Amino acid sequence: MWLDEPHDVLFQRAAEKLGVPLSDFASARVVRSVLDARNKGSPRYIYTVEVELPPARVPIALPADVSEVPPAPPPPPRVGQPDRWPIVVGTGPAGLFCALGLLECGVRSILIERGRDVGNRRKDVTKLMRDGSLDPESNMNFGEGGAGAYTDGKLSTRINHPLVRKVIETFARCGAPDQILIDGKPHIGSDLLPGAVEQLRKELADGGCRVHFETRVDDILSDGARTVGVRLSDGAVLEGNRVVLAPGNSARELFERFAADGRVSLEPKPFAIGFRAEHPQELVNRIQYGSASNNPKLPPADYKLAENLQVGGELRGIYSFCMCPGGVVVPTPTEEGFQCTNGMSNSRRNAKFANAGIVVSVSVQDFEKAGFHGALAGLEFQRYWEKKAYQLGEGRYYAPAQTIPDYLAGKLRKKPGATTYRPGLVHADLNRLYPPHLTEALKAALRRFDRKMRGFISEDAILIGIESRTSSPVRVTRGDNLQSVSMAGLYPAGEGCGYAGGIVSSAIDGLRIAAQIASELA
Ligand SMILES: Cc1cc2nc3c(=O)[nH]c(=O)nc-3n(C[C@H](O)[C@H](O)[C@H](O)COP(=O)(O)OP(=O)(O)OC[C@H]3O[C@@H](n4cnc5c(N)ncnc54)[C@H](O)[C@@H]3O)c2cc1C
Repeated sequence: MWLDEPHDVLFQRAAEKLGVPLSDFASARVVRSVLDARNKGSPRYIYTVEVELPPARVPIALPADVSEVPPAPPPPPRVGQPDRWPIVVGTGPAGLFCALGLLECGVRSILIERGRDVGNRRKDVTKLMRDGSLDPESNMNFGEGGAGAYTDGKLSTRINHPLVRKVIETFARCGAPDQILIDGKPHIGSDLLPGAVEQLRKELADGGCRVHFETRVDDILSDGARTVGVRLSDGAVLEGNRVVLAPGNSARELFERFAADGRVSLEPKPFAIGFRAEHPQELVNRIQYGSASNNPKLPPADYKLAENLQVGGELRGIYSFCMCPGGVVVPTPTEEGFQCTNGMSNSRRNAKFANAGIVVSVSVQDFEKAGFHGALAGLEFQRYWEKKAYQLGEGRYYAPAQTIPDYLAGKLRKKPGATTYRPGLVHADLNRLYPPHLTEALKAALRRFDRKMRGFISEDAILIGIESRTSSPVRVTRGDNLQSVSMAGLYPAGEGCGYAGGIVSSAIDGLRIAAQIASELA
């Protein structure tokens, strides 16, 4: 449908496609809508509609782009509550959805979360943005809802898994807007996501799960190669023979503990590192929508950019990451003295700026070239650049920043103008960060991006340092039974253990682990 077409044409078109009169529809609803803005100046929406027809009226041959709605999946099998309750470490999407999946099978679990509940966490996040004081236990990464709670809440994912729908439906049931059920790029917003997370936790608690906040798991206890429980930050021991490890990508002390004693097998994992780019939203709208950019029916424009380039004899992926139209850039450190950023936006996406990570993939060879070896090589590499960025920003989580033209020219001519980043920016040459081969790759890609999106390189476009927690720098290795290869009963889950990237895929990984545990208990 073109933007100016009346909405009631839609079902009429569906009827024409099926070759039946509209009056034959027993019901009809939109199940998906996707904005197609490839044709600049005249964008349109592509809809998928689901209609119900009396059996006698179903056409014998369906057109190629029409299919029958598949039957609903069977309910999860019920299993009995084990004597020792499963323990879930972390209440991010992986942990919460694992507990939900278990509960749907009749199994209650104990959730342990180092950070504070979403309500109190908000105050800690605000304090960091207001005056640069970090609470290492309650921040943008740690606390109820995990890194997922104060994020943009974009629920789009590259994975095509039958459980994607379940995750989105769960968020909608817990209070996220129903629009996410049909949007091709579903988005909840940082203002509404904490409420949905809180509601999900209440459902878990009402179902009998126990949730402990402000309690950190400091170690996994084992008897030989078998999990027997966890040690908590107050020294207490919680016994359990099934521990789901879903601590997110910033649980550095835990990974260090595992590497130190070697009981839990882990390996270094490639990830990506770079900067956050911020542009005026109006500029991005103009680039993406052309002459239609002022049409009020269009949402703030987004973008997705990627290049594979040969730089210094190596093929590298450089891409935009976690793009937030109408959003803000936020500080996401978890350790004192280390600077990193990410982005988020409210449900209305009404901030005047657009931001996205612009990152280059880094491999184990890059870690080694920089002098870091072993299972924690990626983590140390990440820390090294976060420390440099903190120093360049002169402390208190001020971010080093530079205009894109100046970054490309290696000069400090124009101070970055307006920004959404709090506590604030420090004008600095970002060429002082990252090894030359990574800087070269980022610069080459920025020039290519500008060819795809004319104006991407402009005086109003700035780079903010740094984007470093794109995914986990380690993988806690697990086998086909989803248990650690070195410790039975330990289920590494979600993004932090290297099995997901983003809210939806982390939630799905949690659900998969729940199904695995339920099958073992059946
Ligand atoms: C600002 C920001 C914006 C983002 N925006 C999006 C987005 O729009 N869409 C998207 O798909 N993804 C987004 N992401 C990424 C997304 O949040 C993560 O991919 C996702 O949350 C990972 O889920 P997880 O459950 O594996 O880990 P996490 O969400 O990181 O949760 C891990 C939890 O474990 C807790 N924990 C850690 N260590 C311990 C311990 N030792 N003991 C007890 N608890 C512990 C942490 O406090 C945390 O609550 C964003 C991330 C950030 C930081």
